[in-house]
Amino acid sequence: MTETEKQHDISTLTSGAMAPIWEWVEERIPPDTGIFDAHAHIGEDLDGRTMTADGMRERMKAAHVKKSIVFALNDPNALEVFSGPNDVVWRAHEEHPGFFVPFFRLNPHKEYEREFERCVERGFSGLKLHPVSQKFELDDERAVRLFEMAAKADLPVIIHAGFGMNRIVEALLPTIEGNPELRLILGHAAFVEILQAARVFADHPNVIFETSVARAAELYELFASFDPSRICFGSDIPYGDLPSTLYATLAAAEAAGIEKEHLRGILSENIRRWFP
Ligand SMILES: [Zn+2]
Repeated sequence: MTETEKQHDISTLTSGAMAPIWEWVEERIPPDTGIFDAHAHIGEDLDGRTMTADGMRERMKAAHVKKSIVFALNDPNALEVFSGPNDVVWRAHEEHPGFFVPFFRLNPHKEYEREFERCVERGFSGLKLHPVSQKFELDDERAVRLFEMAAKADLPVIIHAGFGMNRIVEALLPTIEGNPELRLILGHAAFVEILQAARVFADHPNVIFETSVARAAELYELFASFDPSRICFGSDIPYGDLPSTLYATLAAAEAAGIEKEHLRGILSENIRRWFP
């Protein structure tokens, strides 16, 4: 077991002090909800974290997760355009058919055209962009061009919209207004600008909010102010873990008075509309 795997061992996460929390979570998952995790990583990161496909599957199984959107970490092997780490994700998808929705990751500063095409032809289901790790602004013209390419290819994009971000809403809005068909998942719910994001993106139905690693107050604000059919659960494994992130999402939803009938959507059906 690697260090990351030990931290994620499901028996550790659901026993001891976590036992009553996990019990609380399980009581609230509506029956027959095939949970869909909209944000998880396979591979290795510059910071030493790792996650294997098999490790991911074990965690999914233990926490009733049926499907996960997976993509590369900020991989030390990324070199130019993430082709190696993207291959790792694709292999995971091929070795575990039906369980992973593979996204590819790119660096807008590099020559991404060929890797974009290669991944689209291969059958990847979406694109992941991380403005902090790859050091770009969301309105950088090379990033905007990628958003346009994704819109044209009918490829959903998940962006890191969490820690380390200063400008999200203002930088994204022109792209969203100019490409209304672009399907966008705001990773970490754009928590640094949560109220503004919820207000400004309310009229843009192809923008959805993913809940991983946002803080309790921000998740509460999101659930209290935004259409619950456009909020989806994410774990950010290996940074988050399934029991804790499920707890955070369900607790915030309950505190904000979200009705039970919406929980199945948040945990599964909302994101499943894009990846049936
Ligand atoms: Zn992540």
